[in-house]
Amino acid sequence: MSNDLEEAAWYVRHSERLVVFTGAGISAESGIPTFRDDDGFWREFPPEQFANWGQLIKTAIREPHRFAQFLHAVIAPIAAAEPNAAHRAIADAERHVDVTVVTQNIDRLHWEAGTTTSHEVHGSLLEIVDRRRRFRRYVSRRQLRQVADAIDHARHGLLVLPRVMWALRRLAGMGIRGIYYPNLVLFGDALSEPAWSRSLQIVEEADCVIQVGCSGMVLPAALLPRTAKANGATVINVDPHHGEGDIWLQGTAVEIVPKLMQAAFS
Ligand code: NAD
Repeated sequence: MSNDLEEAAWYVRHSERLVVFTGAGISAESGIPTFRDDDGFWREFPPEQFANWGQLIKTAIREPHRFAQFLHAVIAPIAAAEPNAAHRAIADAERHVDVTVVTQNIDRLHWEAGTTTSHEVHGSLLEIVDRRRRFRRYVSRRQLRQVADAIDHARHGLLVLPRVMWALRRLAGMGIRGIYYPNLVLFGDALSEPAWSRSLQIVEEADCVIQVGCSGMVLPAALLPRTAKANGATVINVDPHHGEGDIWLQGTAVEIVPKLMQAAFS
C-alpha cells in the first residue's frame, strides 16, 4: 500500500468518474463526534440501548431522562456544525472533475458546502418523512438548534418524556398524514432509497474513490469502496487511524483532503 500524496493526486486528476465516500470522520473536525473511536459516542450510549427504533422506544419509556440525554447528544453537535475545509474542498473539486459524494453521514454538511450530488445512504437528521415516504420536508440548522435547546430544557424537571416529545415536535410526532420522523437508518433498517441503489451503480462506474473517515465496519455501506475496487477503481483512503485501500493518506480530513485536491488541480 502506498502513502504518496502526489500519486493519489495523479489518480484524482486523471479520474473521469470520481466518487468521494465519507463517514463520520469527515465531520469530526466540524465538532460532530464519531461513534466508534475511543472517545466515540457508543462509549456513553451503547448501541444495544440506542441504535434501533425498538430499543430507543423502550429506553424512552424506562429511562426518559437518559433518552433525553441521548437525543441532545445526537442533535446538538449537528445543529451547531458548519462544513469544514474538507467538505469545501470536495465541493470545489466539481469545478475540475465529475464528482459524486456518497455519504454515511446524516448531517447534510456536504450539501451545505456546495456539493451538488450527495447520496445519503443512512438518511438525514434534517429531512423529515412520513412512514410511506410520500411527504418530505427539511428543517434548518437554526430550527434544529431550537429543538436541541428545548430538549435540554425538558430533560431537567418532572414529566420528562411528554416534555421531550413536545420539544421534538418539529422533528417527530403525529400529524395529519400520520407519524412523521427524521429519515434515519438505524441498526437493522434497510438503507435509504433511492440513495443506496444509485450509490451501488455509481461506484461500479467509478475509476477513483476517495474514502474519508470511514472505519469500514458499517455494513453494508462499507461494501461500496470494495465494490469499486473489484471493478478496477483506485481507492484512496484518508483516515488518521485506519489504513485500507490502494493508497492510505494518514491524517485527518482537514489536514489531508484540501492538500490532495490542491495537488490534483492546481
Ligand atoms: P465510521 O465507521 O465512519 O468511523 C469513523 C472513522 O473516522 C474511523 O475510521 C476514524 O479513524 C475516522 N476519523 C476520526 N477522526 C477523523 C478525522 N478528523 N478525519 C478523518 N477521519 C477521522 O463511523 P462511526 O463513527 O462508527 O459511525 C457509524 C455511523 O453512524 C456512520 O456511518 C453514520 O451513519 C453515523 N454517524 C454519523 C455522523 C454524522 O452525520 N456526522 C457522526 C457519527 C456517526
